[in-house]
Amino acid sequence: RAKRQGGGSYTFYSPEMNTWSRDRLKMESALRAALQNREFELHYQPQIDIRSGRLVGLEALIRWRRADGELIRPDAFIPAAEESGLIRGIGDWVIREATSQAARWKSEGLLPVPLAVNVSAQQCSDMNVVDTIRSALEDSGVAPAMLKIELTESTAMHDAERVAELLSSIDRLGVGVAVDDFGTGYSSLSLLKRFPISELKIDKSFVHDITSDADDAAIVRGTIALAHSLGMTVVAEGVETQAQLRFLARHRCNIAQGLLSSPPLPADEVRNWLEASAPGLRRTAP
Ligand code: C2E
Ligand code: MG
Ligand code: MG
Ligand code: MG
Repeated sequence: RAKRQGGGSYTFYSPEMNTWSRDRLKMESALRAALQNREFELHYQPQIDIRSGRLVGLEALIRWRRADGELIRPDAFIPAAEESGLIRGIGDWVIREATSQAARWKSEGLLPVPLAVNVSAQQCSDMNVVDTIRSALEDSGVAPAMLKIELTESTAMHDAERVAELLSSIDRLGVGVAVDDFGTGYSSLSLLKRFPISELKIDKSFVHDITSDADDAAIVRGTIALAHSLGMTVVAEGVETQAQLRFLARHRCNIAQGLLSSPPLPADEVRNWLEASAPGLRRTAP
């Protein structure tokens, strides 16, 4: 809102600002309505064990299905959800929906693999998210080991003491923690030592040119070695080519996620994908 100052001048009020804040308000109320009207859905991207070719996990990725059918990617609305505080409601929905889906797949005898859920910094600013995880697991009857939490380095650095406490609680529940987009944030390696982290996800920006850029190759090799010496599993994000996969296999990366295996899929397409999975991929034994 414009503030009138002594002397009659307006401080931060400009036509651009007006449009910007109007757009933001529109976005906020649209997001609030979307939550009420159940317009969000989760898509699931397979994570493949590089040595065996087996499915070992699925990452839940949110999408917004507008009333007109348009599908909106998270990068277009998660930042607004974070700024407005709506991310808490949306984030709780994501955790509940993912655990319900895990329970549905379990009852269909399908997919005894963990689901990974992304959590943003604002969700980590108090312990509510721990209560949400705990009650979602209780209500769905899903084992804690079937859920994983992904958070970025910047989230962890946001308020390191608080996040350390939060992650310890999540760890005590038996839920694994992965550091997402590793290497892109403003991070301290001591995070890896102090926090109960079980998995590092190498950001796709390092994976992209892995076979042609010596620096990226070195960073990825170094990250894999670091993670392994700390007893962590390593996931490579954004694996799109066989050449990238071969490089990762040669350097003992554990898990690959990316378009080479599959894009994120709506829940009801996951079964089809498993049945017709790409050559070299096998489903986990039931
Ligand atoms: P992320 O957690 O790092 O997820 C990986 C992103 O890489 C996803 O984008 C995925 O679709 C994309 N991707 C997968 N395979 C490939 C590939 O081979 N090449 C390339 N170039 N990209 C690939 P998406 O689904 O658009 O999600 C973007 C980001 O939005 C996520 O990055 C995550 O940070 C955030 N996000 C997604 N779902 C949620 C959620 O439920 N809650 C929160 N807080 N954030 C979410
Ligand atoms: Mg993620
Ligand atoms: Mg990532
Ligand atoms: Mg990301």
